[in-house]
Amino acid sequence: MENFKIIVATGNKGKSVEINDLFGEKFQVITMNEAGINADIIEDGKTFEENALIKVHTIKPFITHDDRTILLADDSGLCVDALNGAPGIFSARYAGLEATYEDNNRKLLKAMKDIPLSKRTAQFVSCIALIFPDGEEWTCRGTVQGRIALREVGNNGFGYDPLFIEDQTGLTYAQMDIKEKDRISHRAIALKKAYLKIKTKYNL
Ligand code: IMP
Repeated sequence: MENFKIIVATGNKGKSVEINDLFGEKFQVITMNEAGINADIIEDGKTFEENALIKVHTIKPFITHDDRTILLADDSGLCVDALNGAPGIFSARYAGLEATYEDNNRKLLKAMKDIPLSKRTAQFVSCIALIFPDGEEWTCRGTVQGRIALREVGNNGFGYDPLFIEDQTGLTYAQMDIKEKDRISHRAIALKKAYLKIKTKYNL
């Protein structure tokens, strides 16, 4: 089997582990840091797609061209219907540039304090961008439908996980075990589409 390398435009080892779990032995998955790239990514796009493309474009100049290296980035966030899609692309910095996950969750609960459960619908969105060795650029989206809980429930995961009740299971992401979340999450859905795209492109 041909050995492709995937460089992920993130400093987050968790993301590359998640990607590695899915892409398996056919691909060598490394983060930009592991590839020796120390670039500042400025996420000033207006959509998840634009931000994911900004991430892969930022690392592209650092890559010496070879026909086995694929660049990958994910941009993700939580879109709440009653808040007109907020926090959306601002999910990481909803409560400010230095905000912690707790700050963001507190702000979200406060913004929704008078909204009943029936109107607390939300989607987790992940957009993946790829740049292939031949220059082709490609994006896709994974979405999971749910509701914002009235209070934090569950201890696993990160970010908004304790507030997101996934529709199919009725559990918050934070109540799921990590492997189960990584199987059904918005990022898993988008990554599976990206995996299929790569396999189809190279007849793997
Ligand atoms: P990104 O790393 O720039 O894509 O920012 C994603 C932000 O969206 C994170 O900092 C979290 O606040 C939120 N987020 C994305 N995916 C998840 C998830 O699976 N669980 C909880 N929060 C998430």
